[in-house]
Amino acid sequence: MNGKKTKFFQQLFVTPYMKCNYHTHTHFCDGKENMRFFVEKAVELQFDHLGFSSHAPIAEQYDFTLTEDEIPEYLKEIEYYQKQYPQLKIFKGLECDYIPGITKDFSYYKEKYELDYIIGGVHLINVPNSQDVWFIDGPRRETYDIGVARFFNNNIKKAVTCFWEQTFEMIENQKLDIIAHIDKIKMHNQERFFKEDEDWYRKLVDHAVELIVKKQIIVEINSRGIYRLRCKNFYPSDYIIEKLSKTKTLMIISSDAHKAEELSFYYKEAKNKLQYFGIDTLAVIEDGIWRPLKFH
Ligand SMILES: [Zn+2]
Ligand SMILES: [Zn+2]
Repeated sequence: MNGKKTKFFQQLFVTPYMKCNYHTHTHFCDGKENMRFFVEKAVELQFDHLGFSSHAPIAEQYDFTLTEDEIPEYLKEIEYYQKQYPQLKIFKGLECDYIPGITKDFSYYKEKYELDYIIGGVHLINVPNSQDVWFIDGPRRETYDIGVARFFNNNIKKAVTCFWEQTFEMIENQKLDIIAHIDKIKMHNQERFFKEDEDWYRKLVDHAVELIVKKQIIVEINSRGIYRLRCKNFYPSDYIIEKLSKTKTLMIISSDAHKAEELSFYYKEAKNKLQYFGIDTLAVIEDGIWRPLKFH
């Protein structure tokens, strides 16, 4: 067979690369647009998979989440759009917060509502020996700073350690498919209170990676901090991506979109970043199983 023909056959049998985004938020939680916009945009941008991952209920005072009463309607709407747009595979997910003693087990939602996947994440940190909760996300840097001062007496090491310990506990005790923005704690820090290459911080990160490998959790490379101009790097930072590249950890590219136009934000840059560290597969879900698929 001549070279031209070989190339033709290679192209014919090569597994097609799939464009996916499994981390999105609509009007059902704190997203800014309804589901229709996301679905139409995903079709326009030629995504193969679109997953919805509204924030799972936490407690009454948190209004950025779904309430449990709203979950059936949320799922019904996903099913409706799946019927309308068969060319796009649409998945049912939730982004579950882990706050020990407050949140329900992730498997409660996954089993009761027959979800395709759970993204687990930490946005709110239990302050030791108190009823207080430190919110590390959201638009206001002051909330972060006030928390470090009020709850941790300005001991940043203690505050950050609490974040990572809660993350370790989530990985160990909960059933999650994907871990959300693993190093979110750096977002409002903006290199002010601590540097990510400090020994104590690296030790925490190294332990998180160990647990992720042990539990075979998928890690997302999440661009939201970059396009919202809240941090310079993806979650996770390069140090973590490099560590993960030496393991068999599966990865996905997420934009954590809260508006339809954000679906493909920094998608190409995320791909380039993974390729730079020698990662050439992304995880896709099919028939309830996550598997690696080569990209190019
Ligand atoms: Zn999140
Ligand atoms: Zn999210």
